[in-house]
Amino acid sequence: MSGFALDRLVPAHVQAFEAYVPAPPDDVLRRRFGVAHLHRLNNNENALGPPAASRAVLARWDQREAALYPQGDGWHLRRAIAGRFGLDAEQVILGNGANEVIAFVIKAFCEAGDNIVTADRTFAVYEWLASFSGVEARLVPLRDHGFDDAALLRAIDARSRVVFLCNPNNPTGSWWDHATLARFLDSVAGRAIVVVDEAYAEFAEAPDFPNSFALMARHPNLIVFRTFSKMWGLAGLRIGWMAAAPAVAATVRKTSISYSVNRLALDAAQEAVWDEAHIAASRAQVRVAQAGLATLAGRLGLPLLGGIGNFAMLRLPMPDTVVHRRLMARGVMARAMTSFRYPGWLRVSCGSPAAMAAFSEALEAVLAER
Ligand SMILES: *Cc1c(COP(=O)(O)O)cnc(C)c1O
Repeated sequence: MSGFALDRLVPAHVQAFEAYVPAPPDDVLRRRFGVAHLHRLNNNENALGPPAASRAVLARWDQREAALYPQGDGWHLRRAIAGRFGLDAEQVILGNGANEVIAFVIKAFCEAGDNIVTADRTFAVYEWLASFSGVEARLVPLRDHGFDDAALLRAIDARSRVVFLCNPNNPTGSWWDHATLARFLDSVAGRAIVVVDEAYAEFAEAPDFPNSFALMARHPNLIVFRTFSKMWGLAGLRIGWMAAAPAVAATVRKTSISYSVNRLALDAAQEAVWDEAHIAASRAQVRVAQAGLATLAGRLGLPLLGGIGNFAMLRLPMPDTVVHRRLMARGVMARAMTSFRYPGWLRVSCGSPAAMAAFSEALEAVLAER
């Protein structure tokens, strides 16, 4: 008889956690919904694809290198990032997507009994990673769809180790300016690590958007996340990074996984960071898409949130899960927000003009069907 009792081996916090189930691949979805084409407006990907400089790297890539391990901690890329953003290479840590960097940070600072503090309606991965790591996730309600600085400060206690801010916030598009972030860091006064996830910072054109890297000298508890998945169009290669003061970076390095970023990602990203033309073209396309969404929302009388990143949220007059299915049947993927605590809302990414036109037409038709 086997003495194997799975439950005895699984910690209670893992047993209690419900696994995230990703959407099936596009070919399966196309068959399921009976459409020949699906516009991907659900993941905030860059419709222009990777920068030209990265494409050139991928095109001339030596396939024999697939047999070789990558350099273990992104030596060249960390120097390229440091040069581009005025940092020291020792301050930069790479991960297999910014998602993996979140895991490094929680592992570096949290143990059983500790907590992290974040918002209730923000990028869900901070909460998920804490929860299945046995760390309490304190979720502070958004105020006016944005991070509530005073309430976050009240939630911090002696066991708080990391505060996760998402700026601009995914999914609401709210954002703190430089002065607000600086004031918040002054109030935290080093009691916890403060992570500012700037996955969409490269889309922000407002002059008072934070210069977070400049705040690190005064606030050595600050960690900034960036990703190559959004502006840089490399989501499929999975690469993101963080920067922090040297001592904090050295701590996170202990819990980071060497070799987790692959060769293609390292090479493609290294060229991407200097491609200013790609940023300008992407911003221009996003501006057009945001203007189109504002027009659409006005015409349909739907409340709209967003405007700073490459996404926006629309409030629907019917259940978001129903609208989502009906949009799929018309060849458009958007994000139903019920499972992200925004029932009745739909998040849509800023895609190509063709994809945005398809979305407008499909949404109008779906709402007319009622
Ligand atoms: C997309 C996104 C990320 C990026 O994750 P990767 O793992 O680098 O693809 C991180 N934070 C937020 C808020 C995001 O929207």
